[in-house]
Amino acid sequence: MILIKHSGILRKYLQEKRENGFRYGFVPTMGALHQGHVSLILQSMEENDLTVSSIFVNPAQFNDRSDFENYPESIADDILALETAGCDVLFLPSVKEIYPEGFENLPQFDLGYLEMILEGEFRPGHFQGVCSVVHRLLETVQPDQLYLGQKDFQQCMVIARLLEITGKNDEINLRLSPTLREPDGLAMSSRNRRLAKEERLRAPEIFRTLTEMAGRLKKDSFGDIMENARQHLEEQGFRVDYIEIRGTDLLQVKSWNGSKPLVLLAAAYLNDVRLIDNLVVD
Ligand code: AMP
Repeated sequence: MILIKHSGILRKYLQEKRENGFRYGFVPTMGALHQGHVSLILQSMEENDLTVSSIFVNPAQFNDRSDFENYPESIADDILALETAGCDVLFLPSVKEIYPEGFENLPQFDLGYLEMILEGEFRPGHFQGVCSVVHRLLETVQPDQLYLGQKDFQQCMVIARLLEITGKNDEINLRLSPTLREPDGLAMSSRNRRLAKEERLRAPEIFRTLTEMAGRLKKDSFGDIMENARQHLEEQGFRVDYIEIRGTDLLQVKSWNGSKPLVLLAAAYLNDVRLIDNLVVD
């Protein structure tokens, strides 16, 4: 695997590859890699001639300073994981490389209602930060295919919108990968490393609750299902930001005849660790 720290060098390297007919996939990450990340790398390797991954903990997308400061880092292990998986190129930029002019005057993207709901509501500015970094990374990498995890369901939609706004949706094919889970159902996440032993035992309750909600969709009112789920998680010691039933376009659904796919989404804290998860019901 080649490790590149500067955008100019990466751009030149990839340009040469493209001139030689290579198609390449891109997997952006914030490091502290787990098997979920690796599954994206493997998917990209299967579908492209070359796979580029990036590790960059993006300060601009953290609305909560302590979340940023406590975000796990394990760069040596990450490099080993990427090499073992067979990733071809790791882009490892500095903050200065991504934001040479600092954080003032970053472009604003018109994300519409996507920015007002769910993660957008509870993490103000988060998706603008995500778009800033992804836009910058895409300008440098210019991949044929971009790999994202459904674990961050709303983020996938935001980035689809970003590609549309920036006119890149013709050039870049968005590929979404399913959420990888631990054997007890907990969605793999870098933040799981921050859970204390006792919290780790409780954490799968989010996915269990989503699964239980899915089983009630045809029988009970959505209001009751959401209210019971919230109460249940609170009784288990979670602080719930949201637990909702939406259409997969993230619009609210009032009633359901079983034909439209739904997504159940949750975000909840165990002490100061914020976990998110979702479950698509076809
Ligand atoms: P992150 O490092 O958390 O920014 O994630 C980088 C990419 O990996 C994003 O596209 C995530 O959606 C994806 N990802 C994170 N967790 C998982 C998981 N458990 N399964 C599959 N993909 C994931």
